Amino acid sequence: MKYTQRMFVAAAAAAALVLLGGCGSGDDDAPGGSSAPGATRLAVVATTPEVADFVRAVGGDDVTVTQIIKPNVDPHDYEPTPADIQAIGKAAVVVKNGVGLEEWLDQTIESAGFKGTVVDSSQGVTLREGGHEEDEGHEEESAHEGEEHDPHIWHNPLNAKTMVANIEKGLATADPAHAAAFADNLKTYTAELDKLDADNEAAFARIPADQRKLVTNHDAFGYYVDRYRLEFVGSVIPSLDTSAELSAKQLNDLVAKIKATGTKAIFAETSLPPKSAEAIAKQAGVKVIGGEDALYGDSIGPEGTPEGTYLGAERHNTQVIVTALGG
Ligand SMILES: [Zn+2]
Repeated sequence: MKYTQRMFVAAAAAAALVLLGGCGSGDDDAPGGSSAPGATRLAVVATTPEVADFVRAVGGDDVTVTQIIKPNVDPHDYEPTPADIQAIGKAAVVVKNGVGLEEWLDQTIESAGFKGTVVDSSQGVTLREGGHEEDEGHEEESAHEGEEHDPHIWHNPLNAKTMVANIEKGLATADPAHAAAFADNLKTYTAELDKLDADNEAAFARIPADQRKLVTNHDAFGYYVDRYRLEFVGSVIPSLDTSAELSAKQLNDLVAKIKATGTKAIFAETSLPPKSAEAIAKQAGVKVIGGEDALYGDSIGPEGTPEGTYLGAERHNTQVIVTALGG
């Protein structure tokens, strides 16, 4: 299945290259620009729902945003489509989450013949090392290159502030004529992020410290856990991406840990099937918070819904977690 899809994408990429090649030197055809009257909006491609929402917030009416990964789609094993390649080929700016989340992007950018600016929204964010293993006691870290970092940076609103600032800088550089508007939008949105952070703090302050225990579907909430001083007990999928599976022993260990720590619930996620979470919850004798209450771990909600924005999705998460833990 995947192989065929890849071949299709490769073929489409080749076709896109031919089309692009047909434009001559390309110098007279600025990326994202058009000589058609009225077409003055900056064409931006954003990879994930979160960064797409940030670009909409900062870019406002002066940008058109093509969002590659749709709501509630797992971003960890995304396969780009021919339409994605086309959109990137026509864009002036590509905005990515970064931290290795978009493994497919470099190849896609090359296939698309994209010559514009890539904005890595994670620039300047202090990254967490991968994993939550209790291995503090082990020997000196060798700090080797390519060590896995946690890509779920947006779950700390302070990181989101850095991300939107990077995006604003990228948009202003690509479209200086609208820089003042982008700066205004950034100011407004940054205030919203500060308010989100303060509201989250206040919400968790109402829960006793020894009850702030989190078991999630995959390991997506590390930055959130750190920011609001929660205890990460474990995850159903024991990794930062969504590919791993618990061994029988790990499963038993997690069940035991849930029981021993008095954890109250396992939180399912909108972009992952809840089946394993349900099985573990049953064994541990706790409830699964899912369905309408599933957390936005790797996504935000569909456009037009209250959770269809970053702010709405994050407020949903905190409300669900606080309600379940405060129980
Ligand atoms: Zn994830």
